[in-house]
Amino acid sequence: MRSRGRSLPRAEWRVRAASLPPCLVIAAIFEISSTRARIRALLSRNAGDFGEIADWMTLIAGIAQCTIMVFSLLYYVHTVEGQPRAFPLRGKKPIMLPEVLFMQFDLTDEQRAIQETARRFTSEAITPHAAMWDEKCFFPRATVRAAAELGFGAICVSADQGGSGLGRLEAALIMEAMAHGCPSTSAFISIHNMAGWMIDRFGSASLKAKYLPSLVACEKLASYCLTEPGSGSDAAALKTRAVKEGSSYVVTGSKAFISGGGENEIYLVMVRTGQDGAKGISCLVIEKGMEGVSFGAQERKLGWHSQPTAQVNFANVRVPVENLLGAEGQGFSIAMQALDGGRINIAACSLGGAQRCLDEAVAYTRARHQFGQAIAGFQATQFTLADMETGLQAGRALLYLAADKVAVGAPDATRFSAMAKRFVTDTSMHAADRALQLHGGYGYLRDFPVERIYRDLRVHSILEGTNEIMRMIIAREMLRQ
Ligand SMILES: Cc1cc2nc3c(=O)[nH]c(=O)nc-3n(C[C@H](O)[C@H](O)[C@H](O)COP(=O)(O)OP(=O)(O)OC[C@H]3O[C@@H](n4cnc5c(N)ncnc54)[C@H](O)[C@@H]3O)c2cc1C
Repeated sequence: MRSRGRSLPRAEWRVRAASLPPCLVIAAIFEISSTRARIRALLSRNAGDFGEIADWMTLIAGIAQCTIMVFSLLYYVHTVEGQPRAFPLRGKKPIMLPEVLFMQFDLTDEQRAIQETARRFTSEAITPHAAMWDEKCFFPRATVRAAAELGFGAICVSADQGGSGLGRLEAALIMEAMAHGCPSTSAFISIHNMAGWMIDRFGSASLKAKYLPSLVACEKLASYCLTEPGSGSDAAALKTRAVKEGSSYVVTGSKAFISGGGENEIYLVMVRTGQDGAKGISCLVIEKGMEGVSFGAQERKLGWHSQPTAQVNFANVRVPVENLLGAEGQGFSIAMQALDGGRINIAACSLGGAQRCLDEAVAYTRARHQFGQAIAGFQATQFTLADMETGLQAGRALLYLAADKVAVGAPDATRFSAMAKRFVTDTSMHAADRALQLHGGYGYLRDFPVERIYRDLRVHSILEGTNEIMRMIIAREMLRQ
Protein backbone atom coordinates (compact mmCIF):
# COMPACT_ATOMS: atom_id res chain seq x y z
CA MET A 1 0.00 0.00 0.00
CA ARG A 2 1.30 3.40 -0.83
CA SER A 3 1.99 5.62 2.08
CA ARG A 4 1.28 9.32 1.70
CA GLY A 5 2.29 12.51 3.42
CA ARG A 6 6.05 12.43 3.05
CA SER A 7 7.64 15.15 0.94
CA LEU A 8 8.72 14.06 -2.50
CA PRO A 9 12.33 13.79 -3.62
CA ARG A 10 13.39 16.63 -5.95
CA ALA A 11 13.92 14.22 -8.86
CA GLU A 12 10.36 12.95 -8.56
CA TRP A 13 9.00 16.52 -8.59
CA ARG A 14 10.84 17.06 -11.89
CA VAL A 15 9.46 13.87 -13.43
CA ARG A 16 5.94 14.77 -12.40
CA ALA A 17 6.25 18.36 -13.60
CA ALA A 18 7.30 17.00 -17.00
CA SER A 19 4.13 14.88 -17.11
CA LEU A 20 1.76 17.86 -16.76
CA PRO A 21 -0.92 17.94 -19.51
CA PRO A 22 0.11 20.61 -22.08
CA CYS A 23 -3.43 22.11 -22.23
CA LEU A 24 -3.32 22.81 -18.49
CA VAL A 25 0.09 24.46 -18.74
CA ILE A 26 -0.94 26.58 -21.78
CA ALA A 27 -4.15 27.70 -20.03
CA ALA A 28 -2.17 28.68 -16.93
CA ILE A 29 0.43 30.65 -18.96
CA PHE A 30 -2.33 32.43 -20.92
CA GLU A 31 -4.22 33.34 -17.73
CA ILE A 32 -1.11 34.58 -15.93
CA SER A 33 0.11 36.70 -18.89
CA SER A 34 -3.30 38.30 -19.55
CA THR A 35 -3.64 39.18 -15.83
CA ARG A 36 -0.15 40.67 -15.95
CA ALA A 37 -1.17 42.78 -18.97
CA ARG A 38 -4.27 44.00 -17.14
CA ILE A 39 -2.19 45.02 -14.10
CA ARG A 40 0.22 46.92 -16.34
CA ALA A 41 -2.61 48.70 -18.17
CA LEU A 42 -4.16 49.84 -14.90
CA LEU A 43 -0.81 50.97 -13.43
CA SER A 44 0.10 52.96 -16.56
CA ARG A 45 -2.92 55.24 -16.13
CA ASN A 46 -2.54 58.75 -14.77
CA ALA A 47 -2.05 59.03 -11.02
CA GLY A 48 -5.39 59.57 -9.32
CA ASP A 49 -7.22 57.78 -12.12
CA PHE A 50 -8.14 54.49 -10.51
CA GLY A 51 -10.11 53.30 -13.51
CA GLU A 52 -13.56 51.88 -13.71
CA ILE A 53 -14.75 49.58 -10.92
CA ALA A 54 -15.37 47.00 -13.63
CA ASP A 55 -11.65 47.04 -14.53
CA TRP A 56 -10.66 46.34 -10.96
CA MET A 57 -13.24 43.56 -10.64
CA THR A 58 -11.83 41.93 -13.79
CA LEU A 59 -8.34 42.22 -12.37
CA ILE A 60 -9.31 40.64 -9.03
CA ALA A 61 -11.10 37.82 -10.87
CA GLY A 62 -7.98 37.30 -12.99
CA ILE A 63 -5.73 37.07 -9.93
CA ALA A 64 -8.15 34.57 -8.33
CA GLN A 65 -8.15 32.47 -11.51
CA CYS A 66 -4.34 32.52 -11.61
CA THR A 67 -4.19 31.36 -7.99
CA ILE A 68 -6.60 28.50 -8.70
CA MET A 69 -4.57 27.54 -11.77
CA VAL A 70 -1.29 27.45 -9.84
CA PHE A 71 -2.84 25.35 -7.06
CA SER A 72 -4.36 22.98 -9.64
CA LEU A 73 -0.96 22.51 -11.24
CA LEU A 74 0.69 21.91 -7.86
CA TYR A 75 -2.00 19.45 -6.87
CA TYR A 76 -1.64 17.61 -10.15
CA VAL A 77 2.11 17.36 -9.73
CA HIS A 78 1.62 16.04 -6.21
CA THR A 79 -0.66 13.26 -7.44
CA VAL A 80 0.79 9.86 -8.23
CA GLU A 81 -0.80 7.87 -11.03
CA GLY A 82 -4.07 9.65 -10.49
CA GLN A 83 -4.09 8.92 -6.74
CA PRO A 84 -4.51 11.89 -4.46
CA ARG A 85 -1.84 12.69 -1.91
CA ALA A 86 -1.60 14.86 1.15
CA PHE A 87 -0.69 18.43 0.33
CA PRO A 88 2.61 19.08 2.07
CA LEU A 89 3.18 22.41 3.74
CA ARG A 90 6.59 22.70 5.33
CA GLY A 91 6.36 22.57 9.12
CA LYS A 92 2.58 22.35 9.15
CA LYS A 93 0.13 19.46 9.33
CA PRO A 94 -0.60 18.20 5.82
CA ILE A 95 -3.91 19.47 4.41
CA MET A 96 -6.00 16.44 3.57
CA LEU A 97 -8.73 16.11 1.03
CA PRO A 98 -10.92 13.63 2.95
CA GLU A 99 -13.45 13.09 0.19
CA VAL A 100 -10.74 11.75 -2.08
CA LEU A 101 -8.78 9.68 0.48
CA PHE A 102 -7.68 6.64 -1.35
CA MET A 103 -6.35 3.28 -0.33
CA GLN A 104 -4.37 0.98 -2.53
CA PHE A 105 -4.70 -2.65 -1.51
CA ASP A 106 -1.15 -3.74 -2.02
CA LEU A 107 2.28 -3.00 -0.65
CA THR A 108 4.79 -1.15 -2.78
CA ASP A 109 8.05 -2.83 -3.76
CA GLU A 110 9.86 -0.68 -1.19
CA GLN A 111 7.45 -1.75 1.57
CA ARG A 112 7.87 -5.40 0.62
CA ALA A 113 11.63 -5.03 0.79
CA ILE A 114 11.37 -3.47 4.27
CA GLN A 115 9.05 -6.27 5.39
CA GLU A 116 11.44 -8.89 4.01
CA THR A 117 14.41 -7.31 5.82
CA ALA A 118 12.47 -7.32 9.11
CA ARG A 119 11.41 -10.94 8.61
CA ARG A 120 14.97 -12.04 7.91
CA PHE A 121 16.25 -10.19 10.97
CA THR A 122 13.51 -11.81 13.07
CA SER A 123 14.24 -15.34 11.93
CA GLU A 124 17.98 -14.90 12.53
CA ALA A 125 18.18 -12.69 15.62
CA ILE A 126 14.86 -12.98 17.50
CA THR A 127 12.94 -16.22 16.96
CA PRO A 128 15.71 -18.64 18.02
CA HIS A 129 16.22 -16.82 21.36
CA ALA A 130 12.74 -15.63 22.33
CA ALA A 131 11.85 -18.63 24.53
CA MET A 132 15.07 -18.22 26.54
CA TRP A 133 14.52 -14.46 26.96
CA ASP A 134 11.03 -15.22 28.27
CA GLU A 135 12.15 -18.03 30.55
CA LYS A 136 15.02 -16.07 32.10
CA CYS A 137 13.38 -12.62 31.98
CA PHE A 138 16.38 -11.58 29.89
CA PHE A 139 16.39 -8.16 28.24
CA PRO A 140 18.14 -8.56 24.85
CA ARG A 141 19.86 -5.20 24.64
CA ALA A 142 22.34 -6.38 22.00
CA THR A 143 19.48 -7.49 19.76
CA VAL A 144 17.81 -4.10 20.12
CA ARG A 145 21.13 -2.51 19.07
CA ALA A 146 21.29 -4.85 16.09
CA ALA A 147 17.75 -3.81 15.12
CA ALA A 148 18.92 -0.19 15.15
CA GLU A 149 21.62 -1.02 12.62
CA LEU A 150 18.79 -1.79 10.20
CA GLY A 151 17.08 1.51 11.03
CA PHE A 152 14.43 -0.09 13.26
CA GLY A 153 15.31 2.07 16.28
CA ALA A 154 14.07 5.29 14.68
CA ILE A 155 11.69 4.21 11.95
CA CYS A 156 9.62 7.40 11.78
CA VAL A 157 12.37 9.79 12.85
CA SER A 158 13.24 12.08 9.95
CA ALA A 159 16.20 11.21 7.78
CA ASP A 160 17.95 14.54 8.45
CA GLN A 161 18.13 13.53 12.13
CA GLY A 162 19.63 10.17 11.23
CA GLY A 163 16.33 8.26 11.39
CA SER A 164 14.84 6.02 8.71
CA GLY A 165 12.29 8.68 7.70
CA LEU A 166 9.65 6.04 7.01
CA GLY A 167 5.88 6.20 7.48
CA ARG A 168 3.53 4.53 9.95
CA LEU A 169 2.69 1.67 7.64
CA GLU A 170 6.35 0.75 7.25
CA ALA A 171 6.69 0.88 11.05
CA ALA A 172 3.70 -1.45 11.41
CA LEU A 173 5.20 -3.89 8.91
CA ILE A 174 8.46 -3.98 10.87
CA MET A 175 6.73 -4.41 14.25
CA GLU A 176 4.46 -7.13 12.87
CA ALA A 177 7.43 -9.02 11.44
CA MET A 178 9.50 -8.82 14.64
CA ALA A 179 6.50 -9.81 16.81
CA HIS A 180 6.27 -13.07 14.86
CA GLY A 181 9.41 -13.98 16.78
CA CYS A 182 8.79 -12.14 20.05
CA PRO A 183 5.87 -9.72 20.65
CA SER A 184 7.47 -8.50 23.87
CA THR A 185 10.77 -7.42 22.27
CA SER A 186 8.99 -5.92 19.29
CA ALA A 187 6.73 -3.89 21.61
CA PHE A 188 9.76 -2.66 23.55
CA ILE A 189 11.34 -1.40 20.32
CA SER A 190 8.00 0.19 19.42
CA ILE A 191 7.95 2.27 22.64
CA HIS A 192 11.55 3.38 22.10
CA ASN A 193 10.55 4.44 18.58
CA MET A 194 7.62 6.41 19.97
CA ALA A 195 9.90 8.38 22.30
CA GLY A 196 12.39 9.12 19.52
CA TRP A 197 9.59 10.32 17.27
CA MET A 198 8.36 12.69 20.00
CA ILE A 199 11.76 14.35 20.26
CA ASP A 200 12.11 14.55 16.49
CA ARG A 201 8.62 15.99 16.03
CA PHE A 202 8.45 18.42 18.96
CA GLY A 203 12.00 18.94 20.22
CA SER A 204 14.10 22.07 19.77
CA ALA A 205 17.18 21.83 17.56
CA SER A 206 19.44 21.56 20.62
CA LEU A 207 17.27 18.85 22.23
CA LYS A 208 17.38 16.83 19.01
CA ALA A 209 21.14 17.24 18.74
CA LYS A 210 21.56 16.24 22.38
CA TYR A 211 19.46 13.07 22.38
CA LEU A 212 18.58 11.80 18.92
CA PRO A 213 21.94 10.47 17.69
CA SER A 214 22.26 8.01 20.59
CA LEU A 215 18.55 7.10 20.49
CA VAL A 216 18.60 6.45 16.74
CA ALA A 217 21.50 4.05 17.21
CA CYS A 218 19.87 2.53 20.34
CA GLU A 219 23.07 3.25 22.26
CA LYS A 220 20.65 4.84 24.70
CA LEU A 221 17.06 3.69 25.11
CA ALA A 222 14.01 5.77 25.92
CA SER A 223 10.80 5.29 27.92
CA TYR A 224 7.41 6.95 27.70
CA CYS A 225 6.11 7.95 31.13
CA LEU A 226 2.44 8.88 31.41
CA THR A 227 0.80 6.43 33.84
CA GLU A 228 0.97 7.06 37.59
CA PRO A 229 -0.07 4.93 40.56
CA GLY A 230 -3.22 7.05 40.91
CA SER A 231 -3.96 7.81 37.23
CA GLY A 232 -4.09 5.25 34.44
CA SER A 233 -7.05 5.59 32.08
CA ASP A 234 -7.69 9.08 33.45
CA ALA A 235 -4.20 10.13 32.39
CA ALA A 236 -4.95 13.87 32.41
CA ALA A 237 -5.35 13.64 36.21
CA LEU A 238 -1.62 13.00 36.65
CA LYS A 239 0.04 14.56 39.69
CA THR A 240 3.80 14.47 39.05
CA ARG A 241 4.68 18.13 39.45
CA ALA A 242 7.38 20.26 37.82
CA VAL A 243 7.99 23.69 39.34
CA LYS A 244 10.17 26.19 37.49
CA GLU A 245 13.07 27.49 39.57
CA GLY A 246 15.52 29.63 37.64
CA SER A 247 16.89 27.65 34.72
CA SER A 248 15.47 24.31 35.95
CA TYR A 249 12.23 22.49 36.57
CA VAL A 250 12.13 20.70 39.92
CA VAL A 251 10.23 17.45 39.42
CA THR A 252 8.52 15.42 42.14
CA GLY A 253 6.29 12.38 41.75
CA SER A 254 6.13 8.80 40.45
CA LYS A 255 5.33 7.04 37.21
CA ALA A 256 3.97 3.50 37.27
CA PHE A 257 4.40 0.51 34.92
CA ILE A 258 7.16 2.15 32.89
CA SER A 259 8.48 -0.07 30.12
CA GLY A 260 12.25 0.06 30.21
CA GLY A 261 12.10 1.47 33.76
CA GLY A 262 15.50 1.10 35.45
CA GLU A 263 17.19 -0.08 32.24
CA ASN A 264 16.65 2.84 29.88
CA GLU A 265 18.71 6.01 29.98
CA ILE A 266 16.10 8.55 28.80
CA TYR A 267 12.57 9.17 30.15
CA LEU A 268 9.97 11.32 28.41
CA VAL A 269 7.88 12.33 31.38
CA MET A 270 4.46 13.99 31.37
CA VAL A 271 4.42 16.43 34.31
CA ARG A 272 2.07 19.04 35.68
CA THR A 273 3.41 22.56 35.22
CA GLY A 274 0.08 24.37 35.38
CA GLN A 275 -3.62 24.06 36.11
CA ASP A 276 -5.57 20.82 36.64
CA GLY A 277 -6.52 18.86 33.53
CA ALA A 278 -4.87 18.24 30.17
CA LYS A 279 -3.86 21.86 29.51
CA GLY A 280 -1.63 22.01 32.59
CA ILE A 281 0.59 19.14 31.43
CA SER A 282 4.06 19.48 29.88
CA CYS A 283 6.61 16.94 28.69
CA LEU A 284 10.18 16.85 30.02
CA VAL A 285 13.13 14.76 28.91
CA ILE A 286 14.71 13.36 32.08
CA GLU A 287 17.90 11.32 32.25
CA LYS A 288 18.39 8.23 34.38
CA GLY A 289 21.53 9.71 35.89
CA MET A 290 19.96 12.97 37.11
CA GLU A 291 20.07 13.34 40.87
CA GLY A 292 16.82 12.26 42.53
CA VAL A 293 15.76 9.71 39.88
CA SER A 294 15.18 6.23 41.33
CA PHE A 295 13.37 3.05 40.35
CA GLY A 296 11.04 0.57 42.01
CA ALA A 297 11.62 -3.17 41.90
CA GLN A 298 11.12 -4.89 38.56
CA GLU A 299 7.46 -5.88 38.18
CA ARG A 300 6.74 -9.62 38.01
CA LYS A 301 4.44 -9.99 35.02
CA LEU A 302 2.24 -12.54 33.23
CA GLY A 303 4.08 -11.89 29.96
CA TRP A 304 6.44 -9.37 28.35
CA HIS A 305 9.31 -11.08 30.19
CA SER A 306 11.96 -9.95 27.72
CA GLN A 307 11.56 -6.33 28.76
CA PRO A 308 11.83 -4.61 32.13
CA THR A 309 8.91 -2.75 33.72
CA ALA A 310 9.30 -0.63 36.84
CA GLN A 311 8.03 2.39 38.70
CA VAL A 312 10.12 5.54 38.13
CA ASN A 313 10.40 8.03 41.00
CA PHE A 314 11.43 11.66 40.95
CA ALA A 315 12.51 13.33 44.21
CA ASN A 316 13.25 17.01 43.57
CA VAL A 317 14.96 16.21 40.27
CA ARG A 318 16.40 19.35 38.68
CA VAL A 319 15.79 19.23 34.95
CA PRO A 320 17.19 22.00 32.70
CA VAL A 321 14.41 24.11 31.12
CA GLU A 322 15.93 23.30 27.70
CA ASN A 323 14.67 19.73 28.26
CA LEU A 324 11.07 20.86 27.84
CA LEU A 325 9.60 19.15 24.78
CA GLY A 326 7.39 21.53 22.81
CA ALA A 327 5.80 24.33 24.80
CA GLU A 328 4.55 24.41 28.39
CA GLY A 329 1.02 23.01 28.48
CA GLN A 330 1.51 21.05 25.25
CA GLY A 331 2.58 17.82 26.96
CA PHE A 332 -0.75 16.02 26.95
CA SER A 333 -1.33 16.77 23.29
CA ILE A 334 2.18 15.49 22.48
CA ALA A 335 1.54 12.33 24.53
CA MET A 336 -1.76 11.66 22.73
CA GLN A 337 -0.31 12.27 19.26
CA ALA A 338 2.48 9.84 20.08
CA LEU A 339 -0.12 7.26 21.08
CA ASP A 340 -1.81 7.47 17.67
CA GLY A 341 1.34 5.92 16.24
CA GLY A 342 2.07 3.81 19.33
CA ARG A 343 -1.32 2.11 19.16
CA ILE A 344 -0.73 1.19 15.52
CA ASN A 345 2.53 -0.45 16.55
CA ILE A 346 1.04 -2.29 19.53
CA ALA A 347 -1.70 -3.62 17.26
CA ALA A 348 0.99 -4.69 14.78
CA CYS A 349 2.78 -6.53 17.59
CA SER A 350 -0.45 -8.37 18.38
CA LEU A 351 -0.95 -9.21 14.74
CA GLY A 352 2.55 -10.59 14.31
CA GLY A 353 2.24 -12.71 17.45
CA ALA A 354 -1.19 -14.00 16.43
CA GLN A 355 0.07 -14.84 12.95
CA ARG A 356 2.80 -16.93 14.55
CA CYS A 357 0.14 -18.71 16.65
CA LEU A 358 -1.87 -19.41 13.51
CA ASP A 359 1.20 -20.72 11.65
CA GLU A 360 2.03 -22.95 14.63
CA ALA A 361 -1.57 -24.18 14.83
CA VAL A 362 -1.65 -25.12 11.14
CA ALA A 363 1.61 -27.06 11.49
CA TYR A 364 0.57 -28.73 14.74
CA THR A 365 -2.91 -29.81 13.61
CA ARG A 366 -1.40 -31.37 10.49
CA ALA A 367 1.11 -33.33 12.53
CA ARG A 368 -1.03 -34.36 15.51
CA HIS A 369 -3.14 -37.49 14.99
CA GLN A 370 -6.19 -38.56 16.99
CA PHE A 371 -8.93 -41.04 16.14
CA GLY A 372 -6.69 -42.35 13.38
CA GLN A 373 -6.29 -39.07 11.48
CA ALA A 374 -4.64 -35.67 11.62
CA ILE A 375 -6.73 -33.34 13.75
CA ALA A 376 -6.54 -30.88 10.81
CA GLY A 377 -8.91 -33.32 9.07
CA PHE A 378 -11.76 -32.55 11.49
CA GLN A 379 -14.13 -29.93 10.23
CA ALA A 380 -14.25 -28.30 13.68
CA THR A 381 -10.48 -27.70 13.41
CA GLN A 382 -10.78 -26.36 9.89
CA PHE A 383 -13.53 -23.93 10.89
CA THR A 384 -11.41 -22.68 13.76
CA LEU A 385 -8.42 -22.14 11.47
CA ALA A 386 -10.63 -20.43 8.90
CA ASP A 387 -12.05 -18.05 11.51
CA MET A 388 -8.56 -17.25 12.78
CA GLU A 389 -7.31 -16.48 9.28
CA THR A 390 -10.37 -14.33 8.51
CA GLY A 391 -10.02 -12.37 11.75
CA LEU A 392 -6.33 -11.69 11.22
CA GLN A 393 -6.75 -10.63 7.61
CA ALA A 394 -9.60 -8.27 8.56
CA GLY A 395 -7.44 -6.86 11.33
CA ARG A 396 -4.50 -6.43 8.99
CA ALA A 397 -6.60 -4.49 6.48
CA LEU A 398 -7.91 -2.16 9.20
CA LEU A 399 -4.45 -1.76 10.70
CA TYR A 400 -2.77 -0.81 7.43
CA LEU A 401 -5.55 1.66 6.65
CA ALA A 402 -5.23 3.21 10.11
CA ALA A 403 -1.43 3.40 9.72
CA ASP A 404 -1.87 5.23 6.45
CA LYS A 405 -4.28 7.69 8.04
CA VAL A 406 -1.91 8.42 10.92
CA ALA A 407 0.95 8.86 8.42
CA VAL A 408 -0.87 11.57 6.49
CA GLY A 409 -2.49 13.20 9.53
CA ALA A 410 -6.01 12.44 8.29
CA PRO A 411 -8.78 14.10 10.31
CA ASP A 412 -10.04 10.68 11.46
CA ALA A 413 -6.58 9.27 12.23
CA THR A 414 -7.12 9.08 16.01
CA ARG A 415 -10.42 7.22 15.59
CA PHE A 416 -8.91 4.76 13.12
CA SER A 417 -5.87 4.22 15.31
CA ALA A 418 -8.16 3.46 18.27
CA MET A 419 -10.35 1.15 16.15
CA ALA A 420 -7.31 -0.74 14.86
CA LYS A 421 -5.86 -1.08 18.36
CA ARG A 422 -9.16 -2.30 19.81
CA PHE A 423 -10.03 -4.70 17.00
CA VAL A 424 -6.60 -6.10 16.21
CA THR A 425 -5.52 -6.69 19.82
CA ASP A 426 -8.83 -8.40 20.69
CA THR A 427 -8.91 -10.47 17.49
CA SER A 428 -5.28 -11.47 17.93
CA MET A 429 -5.82 -12.46 21.55
CA HIS A 430 -8.74 -14.64 20.47
CA ALA A 431 -6.61 -16.23 17.74
CA ALA A 432 -3.83 -16.97 20.27
CA ASP A 433 -6.41 -18.55 22.57
CA ARG A 434 -7.78 -20.71 19.74
CA ALA A 435 -4.25 -21.74 18.72
CA LEU A 436 -3.55 -22.81 22.28
CA GLN A 437 -6.81 -24.79 22.31
CA LEU A 438 -5.87 -26.56 19.08
CA HIS A 439 -2.60 -27.64 20.73
CA GLY A 440 -4.59 -29.32 23.53
CA GLY A 441 -2.58 -29.88 26.73
CA TYR A 442 0.68 -29.21 24.87
CA GLY A 443 -0.40 -25.64 24.22
CA TYR A 444 -0.30 -25.06 27.97
CA LEU A 445 3.36 -26.06 28.16
CA ARG A 446 6.34 -23.77 27.74
CA ASP A 447 7.69 -26.18 25.11
CA PHE A 448 5.40 -24.61 22.52
CA PRO A 449 5.59 -20.92 21.50
CA VAL A 450 1.82 -20.37 21.65
CA GLU A 451 1.96 -20.46 25.45
CA ARG A 452 4.48 -17.56 25.53
CA ILE A 453 2.75 -15.53 22.85
CA TYR A 454 -0.64 -16.01 24.52
CA ARG A 455 0.82 -14.45 27.68
CA ASP A 456 2.62 -11.68 25.76
CA LEU A 457 -0.46 -10.56 23.83
CA ARG A 458 -2.69 -10.24 26.87
CA VAL A 459 -1.32 -6.87 27.91
CA HIS A 460 -1.93 -5.27 24.51
CA SER A 461 -5.61 -4.75 25.28
CA ILE A 462 -4.59 -2.95 28.50
CA LEU A 463 -1.69 -0.63 27.75
CA GLU A 464 -1.42 2.51 25.61
CA GLY A 465 -5.07 2.98 26.61
CA THR A 466 -7.28 0.03 27.55
CA ASN A 467 -9.66 -1.28 24.92
CA GLU A 468 -12.53 0.25 26.90
CA ILE A 469 -10.84 3.63 26.51
CA MET A 470 -10.45 2.88 22.77
CA ARG A 471 -14.22 2.44 22.58
CA MET A 472 -14.68 5.77 24.35
CA ILE A 473 -12.42 7.51 21.80
CA ILE A 474 -14.19 5.90 18.85
CA ALA A 475 -17.67 6.77 20.12
CA ARG A 476 -16.66 10.32 21.10
CA GLU A 477 -15.34 10.99 17.59
CA MET A 478 -18.44 9.44 16.00
CA LEU A 479 -20.87 11.47 18.08
CA ARG A 480 -18.93 14.71 17.59
CA GLN A 481 -19.75 14.72 13.84
C1 LIG B 1 3.31 -4.36 31.21
C2 LIG B 1 2.84 -2.94 31.19
C3 LIG B 1 3.64 -1.97 30.61
C4 LIG B 1 3.23 -0.64 30.61
N1 LIG B 1 4.05 0.31 30.07
C5 LIG B 1 3.73 1.63 30.21
C6 LIG B 1 4.65 2.64 29.80
O1 LIG B 1 5.72 2.36 29.27
N2 LIG B 1 4.30 3.93 30.00
C7 LIG B 1 3.12 4.29 30.58
O2 LIG B 1 2.87 5.47 30.72
N3 LIG B 1 2.22 3.35 30.98
C8 LIG B 1 2.51 2.03 30.82
N4 LIG B 1 1.63 1.05 31.24
C9 LIG B 1 0.40 1.47 31.91
C10 LIG B 1 -0.85 1.26 31.09
O3 LIG B 1 -0.90 2.18 30.04
C11 LIG B 1 -2.03 1.37 32.06
O4 LIG B 1 -2.00 0.19 32.85
C12 LIG B 1 -3.35 1.51 31.35
O5 LIG B 1 -3.46 2.76 30.74
C13 LIG B 1 -4.55 1.32 32.31
O6 LIG B 1 -4.41 2.08 33.45
P1 LIG B 1 -4.62 1.37 34.90
O7 LIG B 1 -3.78 0.17 34.93
O8 LIG B 1 -4.41 2.39 35.92
O9 LIG B 1 -6.13 0.90 34.89
P2 LIG B 1 -7.42 1.76 35.30
O10 LIG B 1 -7.43 3.06 34.59
O11 LIG B 1 -7.54 1.78 36.77
O12 LIG B 1 -8.59 0.86 34.70
C14 LIG B 1 -9.06 -0.34 35.32
C15 LIG B 1 -10.24 -0.86 34.50
O13 LIG B 1 -11.28 0.13 34.47
C16 LIG B 1 -11.62 0.42 33.13
N5 LIG B 1 -12.00 1.82 33.00
C17 LIG B 1 -11.35 2.91 33.47
N6 LIG B 1 -12.01 4.02 33.14
C18 LIG B 1 -13.11 3.65 32.44
C19 LIG B 1 -14.18 4.34 31.80
N7 LIG B 1 -14.26 5.66 31.82
N8 LIG B 1 -15.13 3.62 31.18
C20 LIG B 1 -15.06 2.27 31.14
N9 LIG B 1 -14.07 1.56 31.72
C21 LIG B 1 -13.10 2.24 32.35
C22 LIG B 1 -10.36 0.12 32.33
O14 LIG B 1 -10.65 -0.09 30.96
C23 LIG B 1 -9.85 -1.11 33.05
O15 LIG B 1 -10.52 -2.24 32.56
C24 LIG B 1 1.99 -0.29 31.19
C25 LIG B 1 1.17 -1.28 31.74
C26 LIG B 1 1.59 -2.59 31.75
C27 LIG B 1 0.71 -3.63 32.37
